[in-house]
Amino acid sequence: MAIKLIAMDLDGTLMAPDHITVTDKTKAALEKAHNMGIKTVIATGRTLSVIKDVLKQVPFIDYVIYSNGAVVYDRCKGENIYTNYIPSDIVENVVDILESYPVYYELYANGASNTQESKAAFFKNKDLPPEFLDFYMQSLINHDNLSEFAKNNDIEKINLFYFDGEYYEEIKDKLFAIEKIDRTSPVSGDIEMTYKGVNKGVALDNMCKELCFTPDEVMSFGDADNDIEMLQFAGYGIAMGNASDDCKAAAKYETLSNGEDGIAAAIEKFIFNAFKPKLLISACLLGENCKYNGGNNYTEEAAGLKDWFELIPICPECFGGLSIPRVPNEIVCGRAISKEGKDFTAEYEDGAEKTLYIANENNCCYAVLKERSPSCGFGKIYDGTFSGTLVDGNGITADLLDKNGIRIFGESRIEKLLDEFDF
Ligand code: SF4
Repeated sequence: MAIKLIAMDLDGTLMAPDHITVTDKTKAALEKAHNMGIKTVIATGRTLSVIKDVLKQVPFIDYVIYSNGAVVYDRCKGENIYTNYIPSDIVENVVDILESYPVYYELYANGASNTQESKAAFFKNKDLPPEFLDFYMQSLINHDNLSEFAKNNDIEKINLFYFDGEYYEEIKDKLFAIEKIDRTSPVSGDIEMTYKGVNKGVALDNMCKELCFTPDEVMSFGDADNDIEMLQFAGYGIAMGNASDDCKAAAKYETLSNGEDGIAAAIEKFIFNAFKPKLLISACLLGENCKYNGGNNYTEEAAGLKDWFELIPICPECFGGLSIPRVPNEIVCGRAISKEGKDFTAEYEDGAEKTLYIANENNCCYAVLKERSPSCGFGKIYDGTFSGTLVDGNGITADLLDKNGIRIFGESRIEKLLDEFDF
């Protein structure tokens, strides 16, 4: 089964041991997978505001599951596509308990972490590197009164952070007695609370239903206990070499540690070595006799792409109902016009729409199209005088594919395409 989505935890998984860097090797593997049409997802216990610097390093990421699965954010749409907040009465109960002790806690809401000035002195850090801690502290939003804040905002998650003082067991007992709340402890001394049933696995399941992906088509990576449901959900649930024992027991596979680019190693093994990316290609370049004069535009380089890609041949003019042979057309002011002045734009646009549909159905992000064609040409096309004169412009299909984010290469740029894929 082809993998269509990769979901990964951050700390201990995607991030290097410094908690700040995504290594070049891991970044390159993920970007190559993304360019093959595979959706990429960060699934983190952090808030959205704390991962801005991560997203700058991996800007191609499609979705973010944050606050341990309370929210799924679609980066393309710029909106949340799934939420499951803690009901207000439960938030009130937890906040009342935490307010009665000298402890530091945070409320995750609106994609940010909210704290209270008067609690700052109780913050204790045991493990995090100073550079990450500086960045983290700057991302916090301070309030005079968190109880008031909680009443007026949807709370995604509550974090009792790095607390190891004398009241720990007492507080833990009170928190654990509250029904309808789930708790995880990805780092020793840290209790993270979400609404009952909220976790990264449930969020991933909801997202996959939206995308019509089955669990068999999903690969997930994690190292801590709050990744277990996500690892169990995915057909390719992969524990990092540095993962907890429970995490490793929940996963079907194990890879190298985050310090050894474990994500890149697993992508190489299960994706790059297992199946070829799909590539849309002008059928005439493969020798199909679909050209206007009944011939083809076969090139060895184009035909040789089958060694690297699963080829999806298309002929937009045939899709648009035009016959073989047919009268040639050139583009004049965006319209497909024959030498005799007949307008075939409707057939060309129909063929373009059908080609886009096929591209989307096959998750094609790249296309190799016949240069200069009034359908497939990209960058340069004939000027409409049927004199062999070229002008800047696109064929009707190439233009539509380009506007929908598909990277187009003419047959003279096949080398560049192979370079981009590192083939
Ligand atoms: Fe080739 Fe495209 Fe013309 Fe079809 S429409 S013959 S694929 S250039």
